[in-house]
Amino acid sequence: MIDLHTHSTASDGTLSPEALVDLAADKGLTALALTDHDTVAGIPPALARGAVRGIHVVPGMELGVRWDGAGQMHVLGYYIRHDDSHLGERLDWLRARRRERATRIVAKLNRLGVEIPFGRVEEITGGESIGRPHVARALLEAGHVASVSEAFDRYLSRGRPAFEEKEQLNPKEAVGLVKSSGGAAVLAHPGTLKLPTAQLSRCIEELKAYGLAGLETIWSGHNRAQVESYSALARRLGLLTTGGSDFHGENKPGIELGTGRNNVEVPDSVLAALQNHRRRNAPAHAG
Ligand code: AMP
Ligand code: ZN
Ligand code: FE
Ligand code: FE
Repeated sequence: MIDLHTHSTASDGTLSPEALVDLAADKGLTALALTDHDTVAGIPPALARGAVRGIHVVPGMELGVRWDGAGQMHVLGYYIRHDDSHLGERLDWLRARRRERATRIVAKLNRLGVEIPFGRVEEITGGESIGRPHVARALLEAGHVASVSEAFDRYLSRGRPAFEEKEQLNPKEAVGLVKSSGGAAVLAHPGTLKLPTAQLSRCIEELKAYGLAGLETIWSGHNRAQVESYSALARRLGLLTTGGSDFHGENKPGIELGTGRNNVEVPDSVLAALQNHRRRNAPAHAG
């Protein structure tokens, strides 16, 4: 069993990178990709813990993408060089925008009389990639809501009174950033694009022109019909397929490490295909 989509406390998961690797090893997973939002800070500790526990850790990340459709577009990067300096600069920039946005969200909440100190949100964040789930936890802690999902439904989701837009890369920039840091770019959870099949296919073909390598088919929000239809699409377009749970610990209750919806397991062959892709696309060494 493997899982190629997980979040740690470096972004908006509730387990530290080490605890996440421990949980994966305890569950008998053989490989785990850490794919935090807009940060690679969790990768070194996850790799170190992976070496101790004998589980293969794939250095990854997840980028939000700005596009003109109705749904959300996220791009995953696998086997990125997490110490790449250009990558580091771009992620620093994205996290600075996230921080500014979080201050605007908290200001909106405070104007609504839903008072939480920004300092507390920062403490919950732990200093890396600040996001709405951290604001949600602060709201929960202060007793303004009874759950993280209530915080989203009442205040934080699009269309709700404390929503703020997030600065994001465009599709070409996101795929390009993964590629320039040596990684394979994969469209995360295509179901969240909310596109009919013909349009989805055109959208993915555009991403492929920028260098997209694969589609995430198995995911905690995709039903069996979706998994099958995205797999067929990937086959038709000559793309890899990947899968993962999108585990966030207590920030997304009900999601288990190692499986998508309906306990569907990600086949180990997915990792081998990703590694083959990586070898084929590795820069040739001089001499
Ligand atoms: P952000 O990157 O700050 O826009 O926050 C996105 C994160 O919020 C993702 O990890 C989502 O899983 C989480 N999220 C979005 N909507 C909800 C919701 N309704 N309930 C719980 N978590 C959510
Ligand atoms: Zn998240
Ligand atoms: Fe995502
Ligand atoms: Fe995710």
